[in-house]
Amino acid sequence: MFFSNLSGTVKQGKKVLDNLYFFDENPMLDCNQYVLNNSDTDELSLFDAGNGISLKGLIQGMNQFDLNYKKITRIFLTHEHVDHVLGLYPLLKLLDDNPPQILAYGETAQILKTGNESKIFPGNLGIRPSMFGVEIVPLNVVDLKDQPNIQITPEFNFKIFYTPGHSLGSISYYEKERKILIPGDLVFTGGSFGRYDFPGGSLKVLTQSIKFVSELDVKYLLPGHMGISSKGNQDIAHSYRMVQSLSDFF
Ligand SMILES: [Zn+2]
Repeated sequence: MFFSNLSGTVKQGKKVLDNLYFFDENPMLDCNQYVLNNSDTDELSLFDAGNGISLKGLIQGMNQFDLNYKKITRIFLTHEHVDHVLGLYPLLKLLDDNPPQILAYGETAQILKTGNESKIFPGNLGIRPSMFGVEIVPLNVVDLKDQPNIQITPEFNFKIFYTPGHSLGSISYYEKERKILIPGDLVFTGGSFGRYDFPGGSLKVLTQSIKFVSELDVKYLLPGHMGISSKGNQDIAHSYRMVQSLSDFF
């Protein structure tokens, strides 16, 4: 199956808070994306890049909220997997005149800097970059390891927490004032949590990372897949119970 024959569907958007928007994932191997607007400078920050095929749908979705993708100046990544990073490559081509900064943590930054295809496409998913019409090339990436805190806009100051278990380069972005958590594929709504069977994944480590975020004060849970929640603490507690019961079983 060649995914590049498919065109993405419009990403439906939702305003979560002033200057914070959610764009939902396309059905096939894509991810949720979030946009922060700096109302002082008009600059936009994007969380996760999607699979590339969904880029057109993201741009259409953003247009519906008067968010111009050309204003994207920073792209923050949650982790290194295909459905979260492939969109970087076509987006950088589109923004060639004014390339945005790419920010990722540790292993993810390293993988993108070297263009390590096997780490972006984990395990035996049976897919290749060409199926997405994308070529993996080395990128300039800022490593968030050196920045435990990042003031993304005057309103939003995110802490960076290293939360592995789903992958080696997985982080969570946490905004304490507004109680926002962007955990990538660590926890989802409805008691779900990330896969731990890819290379670099671990159920034990995933459980520890979920325990860590369960101790944060979270209202808005903005995960990499499925829906979003405004009862973050409840959802994360649910996921923690579920993952613990699995750990007990093994
Ligand atoms: Zn993943």
